[in-house]
Amino acid sequence: MNYTNDIEIKNRLAIIKQMRSLLSMIGFFIVLIAQAQNDQVEIKVHKLTDHIYMLTGKGGNIGISVGQDGVFMIDDQFAPLTSKILTAIKSISDQPVTYVFNTHWHGDHTGGNLNMANEGAIIVAHENVRKRIRFDQLMKGQKKQGVSEKSLPVITFTEDMMYYFNEEEVFISHIHKAHTDGDALVYFTKNNVLHMGDAYFQGKFPYIDIASGGTIDGYIEGIKKAILLINDDTQVIPGHGKVSNKSELKSYVNMLKILRQRVMDEISLGKSLEQVKVNINLTKGYSSYNGWITEERIRVSIYKSLQK
Ligand SMILES: [Zn+2]
Repeated sequence: MNYTNDIEIKNRLAIIKQMRSLLSMIGFFIVLIAQAQNDQVEIKVHKLTDHIYMLTGKGGNIGISVGQDGVFMIDDQFAPLTSKILTAIKSISDQPVTYVFNTHWHGDHTGGNLNMANEGAIIVAHENVRKRIRFDQLMKGQKKQGVSEKSLPVITFTEDMMYYFNEEEVFISHIHKAHTDGDALVYFTKNNVLHMGDAYFQGKFPYIDIASGGTIDGYIEGIKKAILLINDDTQVIPGHGKVSNKSELKSYVNMLKILRQRVMDEISLGKSLEQVKVNINLTKGYSSYNGWITEERIRVSIYKSLQK
């Protein structure tokens, strides 16, 4: 009896060992694939004015202000891309990056914080960004680990703030419970460029991160605030997508208002989440906004947001 047990235990141990080495091999290949994907990423430089640039690569759009005071940077994508991003910045300016401003806490906007802090940049963000990247967060059902002390913003704000940098007033304004609870608009008043972070997904349905305090009503209000701030000549950098403008923002907010109303009407009729989820009529006419957030996902997001 004991002998059989011994064999069984040995067999099981051998299986566990095999499983472990298989898992570590899978992990190794995942790392290799991720590395290969990052190697393929090209950082593209888009010149908006003589002083403001947009950089695209993988993750959120980066905004850069260059001038005699140094480089002011908005968001920093993912850590493995930092050296490529810095090379792209060097092609524009030989000055160091003085500030990195995070528009919100998500990893595709703050992933390079530690590297940038090590480069000597001062990280600045809304106080809720600091709170959220500091501790473990649940995002799309998955745990995101809190970051090290050095990756954290060292200056935080609560409502509005102003930078006087590169001969320009840079107006920073917090918007409440939009994409998350720590979003900010960054407006370069002289160059007339507005960076909206993920409070604007140009041409696509927005991702409303309800678990991080995002709401459909806050999202709509955030865009209305942006529209009030800018004029017809303003160049708008979205968190994701192409450079945009005031008239596109107006159509975007109209789309959101209509979808919100349609879902609200269903709620008033006592419809369930499941019924709203499958009701394709609620997003009728807006299929061109399909993307990472599909029509079904936006119906679900708006419903959940309005239920809260
Ligand atoms: Zn985001």
